[in-house]
Amino acid sequence: MQSSFSIGDFSALSRKIRATTRAEVETALGGKTCTLDDLAALLSPAAEEFLPMMAARSRELTALRFGKTTQIFAPLYLSNFCINRCAYCGFAADNRIPRRKLTIDEARQEADILKKRGFDHVLLVTGEAPAKAGVDYLEEVVLCLRDQFAALSIEVQPMEEHEYARLFRAGVTAVAVYQETYDRTIYDQVHLAGKKMDYDYRLATPARAAAAGMREIGIGSLLGLADWRAEGLALGTHLSWLRKQFWQTNFTVSFPRLRPAAGAFEPLVQVSEKNLSQLMFALRIFDPDVGLILSTREEARFRDGMLGLAPTRYSAGSCTDPGGYSSDNHEGEQFSVGDHRTIDEVCQVIVNKGLDPVCKDWDREFQMH
Ligand code: SF4
Repeated sequence: MQSSFSIGDFSALSRKIRATTRAEVETALGGKTCTLDDLAALLSPAAEEFLPMMAARSRELTALRFGKTTQIFAPLYLSNFCINRCAYCGFAADNRIPRRKLTIDEARQEADILKKRGFDHVLLVTGEAPAKAGVDYLEEVVLCLRDQFAALSIEVQPMEEHEYARLFRAGVTAVAVYQETYDRTIYDQVHLAGKKMDYDYRLATPARAAAAGMREIGIGSLLGLADWRAEGLALGTHLSWLRKQFWQTNFTVSFPRLRPAAGAFEPLVQVSEKNLSQLMFALRIFDPDVGLILSTREEARFRDGMLGLAPTRYSAGSCTDPGGYSSDNHEGEQFSVGDHRTIDEVCQVIVNKGLDPVCKDWDREFQMH
């Protein structure tokens, strides 16, 4: 296994993409396979006039690899304590918000609500504060909830391989860890304190989680920090490196766009819905097998329009504060959501589009053997 991944000069990715000609886009769309050069072409300004063709190709590949299904999941926020200061996040250590960590009983209560609403895949989320919500706590939560859900994923602080292995044995099926931005200069500007300031440690985290045996790894970029086209190429490059090292692992990519949050951070670059669509179509054409996630950060209208075109997994009915499902007070939320519909409402739209909403993407029985 190659020991580490690096992205090189981020601005060189931007230059490469912007130098793309119309002919190169046509070549990228005409080929049977899609190389990293082709991905760069599909992310380019020159590709914008081909967006309808890209959408059609992306829809075809999504249906071919994933069938007529859309997976559904919900986040369960366990703790909003965080030792980091990420300029864009409501949980940043210097934001004065009510802080809370759920007890095991409270976590179970939130989980019961999600289960009753029909969810079978839950993403456990914490801020990054290992002293408050470390491996021992997460293991306890997972052992308590594992029999209730088909899949339990985590989005928590980056860990060592042996810690991921421990959580895998407890019943965690997947790890999401987003680089936020692959642009090292911007990364340093927006990560102001805490362990997250270490770009390289974070970049190596998906590989540590995969090496620990996790069944699925999620990577992603927070859109609104740096050039979204270059983020797309960086994500594709990271994804193909991970695939070569860990051929037995499933991968997903997320494209969260910055949302209003405590701290009132303004996006450094604008990313429109059209840009986000191009990014998702390009990634789908580049890697037909990758799961693409579209969260409730996006408005209902846009999410509905994207159904079946590229994304394979939607969050629904999300609260982004610990205890949010049992309370009407959402003061301690990470960000405000854009799609406020219930799981039933989201599922109905999915059905109306001729797709099957799938609340269970994995049978835990397989993990036990
Ligand atoms: S993005 Fe994550 S690490 Fe950064 S402040 Fe928010 S919760 Fe903490």
